[in-house]
Amino acid sequence: MADPVNYYLRLLDRSERPLTVAGVQLEQLPIASAEIRRQTLIDTSGIRYRQISLTLRTQYQLTGYMQVGRSLKDLDQHLAALRLALLLGWPVTMIVIAICSWYLAGHAMQPVYRSYQQMEQFTGDAAHEFRTPLAAMHSTIDAAFRLHGQSGSDLLSEPISRTLQVIKRQNARLSKLVGDLLLLARLDRHQLAGEYCLCCLNDLISDLVEELAFLAIEAQVKLVQQVQTPKKLCILGNEEQLYRLFSNLIINGIQATPNGGQVTVTLERGDRYAFIIVQDTGIGIAPEHQSLIFGRFYRINQDRSRASGGSGLGLALACAIARAHRGSIQVQSQINKGSTFTVKLPFNTLAKIRG
Ligand code: ADP
Repeated sequence: MADPVNYYLRLLDRSERPLTVAGVQLEQLPIASAEIRRQTLIDTSGIRYRQISLTLRTQYQLTGYMQVGRSLKDLDQHLAALRLALLLGWPVTMIVIAICSWYLAGHAMQPVYRSYQQMEQFTGDAAHEFRTPLAAMHSTIDAAFRLHGQSGSDLLSEPISRTLQVIKRQNARLSKLVGDLLLLARLDRHQLAGEYCLCCLNDLISDLVEELAFLAIEAQVKLVQQVQTPKKLCILGNEEQLYRLFSNLIINGIQATPNGGQVTVTLERGDRYAFIIVQDTGIGIAPEHQSLIFGRFYRINQDRSRASGGSGLGLALACAIARAHRGSIQVQSQINKGSTFTVKLPFNTLAKIRG
């Protein structure tokens, strides 16, 4: 219940001079025109009052005024408190909602995350387990061929020899696939973070261009390197992985380029990044495939890829390696004009990789 002293009642004469006041002490409150029926007044200390004025009259004449008012101090205080509560409560509520949503989303994602982890674990473990029998098969086939060569006899008949050749080829292909899967699994689980050292990109690219020159000659494609850095460009990374990344891109470029075409490998230095650009004048990639080619086992032309021995893991691996180095790969391509793969690698990776 409101404080009764909040109210006042005052009687004014005809000239609006106060005759008597009851309730709140009103020395500081201005005498506003009694002609206005409802009004809000403010006293000298800033407290608001709501006032109603009534005229008092006999049958013939005006005898005075009666004013009834109420201090709005307590209501204003409540309103101020409410405004403050809303002002502070709104962001606090939003933060609480955000935290709860984050927690609940995390909780709901747990089974998905767990099955993803199990899938990763399974891929890694399966690939690891496959390596030993594949290596054993490889050595057995090699031993059979060696025995055949040494004995000079026709120990292996022609059909058996041909079958063994096929098995050996398929074994090599399967071993590569298993190796790729194992590397992907290790990259997914950040298991290679400790194996970083200073890698000179100029040397890496020169070596690669030299090593893949025979492949380019065989495909009648010109393989060119353009190193546009006055000084050697070194980054912290895993040399073996970077080698895989660039070789995958260059080999893809060579395979996608018809006779007489060109594959150019460019090394450029940016402010914080090294750019390695592999550009070919090949068949190009249709826009609808461009965002998909980095997915695992994605091949544009299944038959052609099978013929080239690709499993669709090359670009997925390249992408995972670039990401493990806190970098990225982008592709720009036009059908029948060629493709450009741009790898962006930061110089200062070690702190981030270890962090
Ligand atoms: P793969 O290991 O089978 O070569 P990738 O992951 O390297 O698979 O490539 C995925 C798909 O992208 C392949 O089907 C390949 O044909 C296509 N591709 C990759 N690079 C190029 C390129 N430079 N030009 C045209 N197509 C390409």
